[in-house]
Amino acid sequence: MEIREQLKHKKRVVIKIGSSSLTHQMTGEVNYQKMEQLTRVLCDLRGMGKDVILVSSGAIAVGRKAMHMNKRPSTTAEKQALASIGQARLMMTYQRLFAEYSQVAAQILMTKNTMKNDLSRFNTRNTFEELLSMGAIPIVNENDTVATYEIEFGDNDHLSAYVAALTKADLLILLSDIDGMYTDDPSRNPDASLIPIVSELTEEYKNMGKSTSKSDVGTGGMSAKLDAARIAVDAGIDMVIANGSNVRNILDIVSGKDVGTLFLAHQKKNFDLLNYID
Ligand code: GLU
Repeated sequence: MEIREQLKHKKRVVIKIGSSSLTHQMTGEVNYQKMEQLTRVLCDLRGMGKDVILVSSGAIAVGRKAMHMNKRPSTTAEKQALASIGQARLMMTYQRLFAEYSQVAAQILMTKNTMKNDLSRFNTRNTFEELLSMGAIPIVNENDTVATYEIEFGDNDHLSAYVAALTKADLLILLSDIDGMYTDDPSRNPDASLIPIVSELTEEYKNMGKSTSKSDVGTGGMSAKLDAARIAVDAGIDMVIANGSNVRNILDIVSGKDVGTLFLAHQKKNFDLLNYID
């Protein structure tokens, strides 16, 4: 399909992976094989000459495991403490894996205030630019350790769209626990079918995007992904939702294969990112 072929030429790619894709479903332990495969794929994207930004969750999930906590954290303080433990561990693993393939990973932690405040937004954009021009791979997460309800993005789907818009990326890939967007919830309706391309994000699609994420580790769900799509396409960025259970999907997407659901960009006139942040 010709539209898909165009994805071959995307230079700056933001990839979002969620906690449910990075951990074993049954135990919640980190899936090291998956992290390693993801790292390899991202290093290959760098090898193809692309700018790569990873938005990775997992801080709280990793912290939870480190502290042998079985239940999901309920208070903000618990979440913040677990993120503080888990984020450092997560980055340690990424640093090691990227170093194996001679790539350098960098950490960027953000809150809503980073985007809202003109000076921090400007500085953050400069940092991204500088890192990418050095050939480093920025790994972004919400700064959960300081983010309270008022300043949190809440989920990394939104965060990844803001990052893509801020860095003027060409393509945003959201890796999910589902193959893409369906006409209905496929776990309940056997007739639900995968939508290969959304050329215009109409109300009808929004209604289809009921929350379909079943995992207890991530936070997103399909409606958050559609919000992300709205930001991305308005910012002029194509976005793909694909299954994160196979990270090679990333390579298939950038080689123009028909994987997941593609939301086509149509840059809104006078796009202003601040209008998308409440
Ligand atoms: N920032 C959270 C974490 O790293 C996850 C947010 C999300 O899953 O969307 O644990």
